[in-house]
Amino acid sequence: MIISNPKGTQDFLPPYSEQKHYLETQFRKVVALYGFSEIVTPCFEHTELFLRSTGLTTDIVTKQIYSFTDKGGRDLTLRPEGTPGVVRAFLQNNLKPPLRLFYIGPMFRYEKPQKGRYREFYQLGIEVIGEAHPQTDVEVIEMGLNFFSAVNVKDLVVKVNSVGCALCRNRFRSDLIFYLNTVRDKICEDCKARLERNPLRVFDCKETTCQELYQSAPKIADYLCYDCQNHFQIVLQELTERNLPFELDKMMVRGLDYYTRTTFEYVPSLSTALGAQDSLGGGGRYDNLIEDFGGPKIPAIGFALGLERILIYLGNPTLPRKNLVYLIPLDGESEKQAKQLLRQLRTSEIPAILNLPDKNLRSGLGIADNLSCEYVIIIGSEEMKKQVYTVKQLSTKSQQEVPQDKIIEFFNQTFTKQSTKEF
Ligand code: AMP
Repeated sequence: MIISNPKGTQDFLPPYSEQKHYLETQFRKVVALYGFSEIVTPCFEHTELFLRSTGLTTDIVTKQIYSFTDKGGRDLTLRPEGTPGVVRAFLQNNLKPPLRLFYIGPMFRYEKPQKGRYREFYQLGIEVIGEAHPQTDVEVIEMGLNFFSAVNVKDLVVKVNSVGCALCRNRFRSDLIFYLNTVRDKICEDCKARLERNPLRVFDCKETTCQELYQSAPKIADYLCYDCQNHFQIVLQELTERNLPFELDKMMVRGLDYYTRTTFEYVPSLSTALGAQDSLGGGGRYDNLIEDFGGPKIPAIGFALGLERILIYLGNPTLPRKNLVYLIPLDGESEKQAKQLLRQLRTSEIPAILNLPDKNLRSGLGIADNLSCEYVIIIGSEEMKKQVYTVKQLSTKSQQEVPQDKIIEFFNQTFTKQSTKEF
């Protein structure tokens, strides 16, 4: 029996693997324009790190973490999100704020697998550590939008909200509890438990009945203290001034405990490709997390974008053929020439493959097609006599003779022209 991949995971096969690489490259380009540097942290951390940051009452920690004890008896967890590891690394290495960091990597959550929701998935994320000003919030929201636009996700709206600070939450909590008690017999069992442990988390509930009931519940954004209100006003004003597509969504609290003040989510406004899992990414401020980890009081903000969801949104890629040359010599003499040409091409950074002696012209052309080569070079006795190469372009099915001493120049020119093609 063939062993299959674990439930909720997937293989990235070409062309998706290449499209994934393309998204990562575009992300790197956009964040570089905003001065971000890469951070790479381990895929697993001490379990305690997530309990203390993501939050003991969040769905991620109560239901979704992949935890295990290693052979040395350590309690470890596959990271369900990037921020806790980045903050740990920041403190452990005494990094100096302000800092702009980005990361790309797999995250793990034990979820019920469905379209757009996996147990292993990739996130493209950023963190700005050490900036409190609301303008930073808008800068990162804008950067996310610029990335989406660079990869052709154009119908996005950013849902924004403010979840305030501890002061705002204290005032809000008692009103929310009062409201939840009035509808207690109508809410789901999970929400009843949330009501006891952390009432704010009821807004994470996916049940339609609960969602409808909470439309009339008090909202944290209406309980902001003076400073949080002021911060949020500047964010909204700046978003408007920069003409960014946003809408206020007071129901959106995001499923992590450490958020303070601004929270946001990128959601397609037109496309329905993603169904219920429509959020392409989200983030928010976490002004207390570093202090909660035992560090100094340093404000921060970040976001994470879901790579698989972006791939689903974009649909099946039509992958252009590769800048790859397939050499087919037709006899012993031309094979010697082809081997020399192969070295010459690769030294000039032109990707090339040589047809093996046990394959004829027909099967060579088949392999070239299968490997998505754009060009095939055929070398036979005719070509050797005329000191040319026959160059076949597979996408156009055209063919031309190129003088042997002009072949590098030929590919250098055609390949530079093509590399500007969009994915
Ligand atoms: P979160 O860390 O929950 O705020 O998620 C940020 C983004 O990661 C979401 O907007 C999704 O695009 C993506 N994401 C979260 N969970 C999953 C999952 N289980 N499978 C695929 N993508 C996910």
